[in-house]
Amino acid sequence: MCARCVMDAKVPGVRFDAQGVCSYCHMHDQLEAMFPTGPEGERILQGLAAKIRKAGRGRKYDCIVGVSGGRDTTYCLYYAKEKMGLRPLAVHFDNGWDSDVAKENLARICDELDVDLHTIIMDWPESRELTNCTIRACVPYIDLTDDIGIASALYRTAAKEGARYIILSHSFREEGVTPLAWNYVDARYTRALIKRFCRMELKHFKNVDLHHMFYWHLIKGIRIVNVTNYYDDVGEHVENLLAERFNWTDTGQHHMDNEMFALVYYYARHKFGFDWRVVELSAKVRTGVITREAALEALATAPYFENRELVDYCLKKQGFSREEFDAILQAPNKYFYDYPSYYPLIRLLRLPIKLLCRMHVFPAHAYEKFFEAV
Ligand SMILES: [Zn+2]
Repeated sequence: MCARCVMDAKVPGVRFDAQGVCSYCHMHDQLEAMFPTGPEGERILQGLAAKIRKAGRGRKYDCIVGVSGGRDTTYCLYYAKEKMGLRPLAVHFDNGWDSDVAKENLARICDELDVDLHTIIMDWPESRELTNCTIRACVPYIDLTDDIGIASALYRTAAKEGARYIILSHSFREEGVTPLAWNYVDARYTRALIKRFCRMELKHFKNVDLHHMFYWHLIKGIRIVNVTNYYDDVGEHVENLLAERFNWTDTGQHHMDNEMFALVYYYARHKFGFDWRVVELSAKVRTGVITREAALEALATAPYFENRELVDYCLKKQGFSREEFDAILQAPNKYFYDYPSYYPLIRLLRLPIKLLCRMHVFPAHAYEKFFEAV
């Protein structure tokens, strides 16, 4: 195990230096150097805000902000509106698993901030089948079609509204960077899984393929900005502000604004031995929110999703019998590289991708994720 965080040797692709510090800690330090917070971060954000406002002149919205009702996206929406002076359109993708708390949070905060909320509701039978198809594929991440759904919702809404900027709120400081093998997603890979494992004809699912990306980025000029990199989102001051200002309620567990994550985490732990908690706990140790001892203690206790009732509820909603699910847990494990994907092409494009990430055309930490968290 890493001498600094709680990443262990079981994490795919993790490397340790002579002092026993893991490659994820080094990645964190690199990202920290690249993305300052404090006065320097604020200066960068105000520069970005001026650019985004200028691009939004004459349009209804300056930018699109992806929201879930959870901590990080809610704080980001507040920051974009109040601290950066932007006119955002909040966009939410509902795959049928939104918790009531998240839904209420979302409606309340958009109302309080006077921000329009656009929700794309995925057709439920199709949404359910897409998840089931990834479960049958025996790959680690069973929510990948929803990640495509979110990307599709953000880009398509931006293109329709003529908004040039999509604001994301991934936080390497609070959430960490997930190992690529745990949640790899691309259009070719998704298409391959659907072709082999999907048992219904899809009428609503919209993939996000290379030609779409080409059109959105190069023809429509859409840019992705991860503003969270430049402000301090570490620790409880975020929850406190959201609760005081917006009467925001914590969903209790990371990602539980979407209740399917109980199944996502349970499945990954029981089939692959991946304890998703190490990513977030390690991030919190690096930023000093918790001590390494507290993180180890947390890892030694059973996670919230080790709850028979909760898992049975998820399986029932997905239409999976316990027997069928258990058989999948026992079946040989597969990874994205066992199916067709764009990954070989992505490896070839390493340098242009690095450049596009630094230019904020792609999400800023994507380069680290694809080339260092492997
Ligand atoms: Zn580490």
